[in-house]
Order: sequence, then structure tokens, then C-alpha cells
Amino acid sequence: MKDRAPSHHRPQTPVRLVLPRDTTSGARSWWNRAVLRRPVTQLDLLPRRVRVHAVAETSAALRRITFRGAADAGSGADGDAAGATTLSALRSPGPDDHVRVFLPDPATGILHPPRLTADGALQRPAGQVSISREMTVRATRTADGVAEVDIDWVLHGDALGGEEGPASAWAARAAVGDEVVLVGPTTSRGVPDGIGRLTLVGDETGLPALARWVAAVRPDVPVQAIVEIGDDVDEAFVEDELGRAVVEILYRTDGPGQLVDAVRALVPLDADEVVVGAGEATDLAGVRRDLLRAGADADRLELRGYWRRGVVNLDPEAPLDGAQWGAGVGAGS
Ligand SMILES: Cc1cc2nc3c(=O)[nH]c(=O)nc-3n(C[C@H](O)[C@H](O)[C@H](O)COP(=O)(O)OP(=O)(O)OC[C@H]3O[C@@H](n4cnc5c(N)ncnc54)[C@H](O)[C@@H]3O)c2cc1C
Repeated sequence: MKDRAPSHHRPQTPVRLVLPRDTTSGARSWWNRAVLRRPVTQLDLLPRRVRVHAVAETSAALRRITFRGAADAGSGADGDAAGATTLSALRSPGPDDHVRVFLPDPATGILHPPRLTADGALQRPAGQVSISREMTVRATRTADGVAEVDIDWVLHGDALGGEEGPASAWAARAAVGDEVVLVGPTTSRGVPDGIGRLTLVGDETGLPALARWVAAVRPDVPVQAIVEIGDDVDEAFVEDELGRAVVEILYRTDGPGQLVDAVRALVPLDADEVVVGAGEATDLAGVRRDLLRAGADADRLELRGYWRRGVVNLDPEAPLDGAQWGAGVGAGS
């Protein structure tokens, strides 16, 4: 980890052209439920059994785990002659595409994967521990003719002073050859047209998605990112991930509310500015509330809670703080 003092820097985007509000989206109340309109691609709901191929320590609290198909990738797995469940068939065109990762039972180490029913639904095995969590597809590639998927895992367990969870615990111990099952991405949402400026907000769990947004948006669109991280996350890694974005790093240890304060300092937003956020849900609820109160169009915001302090396995579909903020904050899709 680098010394953090010089790393605090403000986004170097002082020139902020404030345009008249976008009249195409109409005047919106701050409780309006509109969200960023994005092109949608429906993908599949197939379970894919994968094996850890490599593990890279990208920070003390971050591990990049590269998976390959558990069966011979490319030739069809689990009796799937067409190869649909092989990793080579996994598609992830959208910047925040995510998979549900099914983990082994922590007590026995045995993986009890879900299966597809005849009507195409996913069914967990009855009477077995079948734990799963959502993770972003950071990258897909073919290496030496074999499909690979990278997932970046945040380690937030006891050793780092946080609360342990099965996904974090699994990732902390993951070794080459360990197996999990990936399901999805099922629905992929692309980058909409008409983004004049992109502001990214979040934390280490959102970093893979935010990094993919930087790469996905048109190269002439200015991008700034405000990311709150723990002390165990390497700021150089965060900056590398965010590529050409102008990055402001906030340290969680400096106290609560920083993300909300930093985003509040950005208002008013440009009329063609889009704000994408992924991270702790309560923080992002505050970000959304402030932006809407400052007159931001709800349909230019995409703020997703990826986890929530004190909540185990946050339901990615549950709107958070709906009563409090009206529109609430989606907790992932
Ligand atoms: C669409 C989507 C994409 C996501 N992508 C990623 C990703 O690419 N990488 C990634 O690491 N996570 C990602 N997450 C977040 C991840 O699913 C959650 O952090 C999840 O709760 C981790 O599961 P767990 O078993 O470790 O902890 P849980 O059993 O769910 O929770 C146990 C305890 O740990 C706390 N906790 C959970 N996550 C964190 C955290 N990050 N920091 C501190 N405390 C925490 C909880 O509040 C709870 O008190 C994503 C979530 C969504 C919805």
C-alpha cells in the first residue's frame, strides 16, 4: 500500500459547463422512480461449474480470482453437449454485469450447486447448504484457447477488522483448483447514448463495475470517480483500474459520510451528466437523496447498493430506504 497522504487529490475537472436542464426528460420530482435508461440484452440463466485457475493479491483486502471451466472448457460440461454451460459461452457485454456465485458449504467444503428445472428456473438442492453471493464480472478472455473469467473479491473478514461473510471467507482461502458455480449474467445492461460527462461513485465492491464503465463509455466523455476505500486497498490499484478517469480517493478510516459530502460538492450536475454508483447501500442512498434534492434528474442516476453494513447477503432486488427517500436506491439488479 502506498503512503496515503499524497493520494488525496481532488478531481482535476474544474471546468464544469452547466447547461440548461435536459428538457427531454422533463421536470422530475426527487421521489420519481425513474432510472437511467439502458439498452438491455437478455442472456442465460445457466449454472457453470468453474475452477480457480489463478489468484492475484491486488491489495491486502482485494483478490482477483481467475476462473476456468471445471470441465474441459469448449467441449461441453456436465453432459451439456452443445457447450452452453461452458465458460466460453458466458457473455458479459454490459459494464456492471454480475454473476451469482454458488459457494461450497463452509462446514463441509462440499459444493451443492443449483440445477435448472425443466421450465428453466434455478433450483437449489433441498436440504443442503447452498450459499450464493453476487459478484461483478471484471473481465472475460480466452487464453491459450481456454475461456477465463476474472472476479475481484473484497476481503472484509475478521482479519481486516470487519465482519466475516462466507464469500469473503471463501475468497480469502481460495486456491488453484477450488470450485464454485457461476450463474449468469442473466440480464446485461449496456451504456446509453447521450452521456456528456460520467461521474462514478462507490467503494471497493463497486470498483470492478466502475472500472468497466470507464472502459465502456465513449473515449471523448470526461469521467471522474470518487471512491471510498479501506486502508487495506492499494490506491495505485484503484487508480490503475479506473484508467483515464480523474480519481478522488476517500479513506473510510477518515470517518463516515465522506462519499455523500464529496458528491454534494459536485452539484449542480451538467444536464448531460450521468452518475453511476455501486457500493455500500446506505451511503448511496444518501448520495441519491442529495443529488435529487439538488435537482438532478432521476433518470440520469444509476446508484446501486452492493452491500449494506450489518446486513447478510443483501437482497440485490430490494429497494433500500424506500420509505425515507421515496424513490429509494436499488440494491443491485
Ligand atoms: C450486483 C452486485 C455486484 C457485486 N460485485 C461485487 C464484486 O465484484 N466484488 C465484491 O467483493 N463484492 C461485490 N458485491 C458485493 C457482495 O455481493 C457483498 O459484499 C456480499 O455481501 C459479500 O458476501 P459475504 O458472504 O462476504 O458477506 P455477507 O454474508 O453477505 O455479510 C456478512 C457481513 O459482512 C458485511 N459485509 C458484506 N460485504 C462487505 C464489504 N464489502 N465490506 C465490509 N463489510 C461487508 C455485511 O454487512 C454483514 O454484516 C456485489 C453485489 C452486487 C449486488
